[in-house]
Amino acid sequence: MLLPCVFVGGVYVGGAEDVRRLYESGELQRMIERLPRSQPYACEFCGGMRFVVCDECFGSHKVYSMESGLRNCNSCNINGLIRCPACYFVLPRPTNCGSLDHRKMS
Ligand SMILES: [Zn+2]
Ligand SMILES: [Zn+2]
Repeated sequence: MLLPCVFVGGVYVGGAEDVRRLYESGELQRMIERLPRSQPYACEFCGGMRFVVCDECFGSHKVYSMESGLRNCNSCNINGLIRCPACYFVLPRPTNCGSLDHRKMS
């Protein structure tokens, strides 16, 4: 599987070829080892918060539509925040998706 671009610790590494080169030279391993293990790394986009202000409601959690007036925003949580798109994909997947949801339902 080819990835279009890869971030390690919030640092842009490059495309799949760059990652392979870094991996073969051992540099990739060094980059990963440099990351602090106990703290979330500081993503440039969200500053390590892992959430950013929703761009649909601008953090108000309310959107206005002509038909229904003011309603809750579907995109963000109650605090008007969404998962950071920059670091969401390199973080471990949340465990509450897919099969776990099904088990909860039944
Ligand atoms: Zn929103
Ligand atoms: Zn982030």
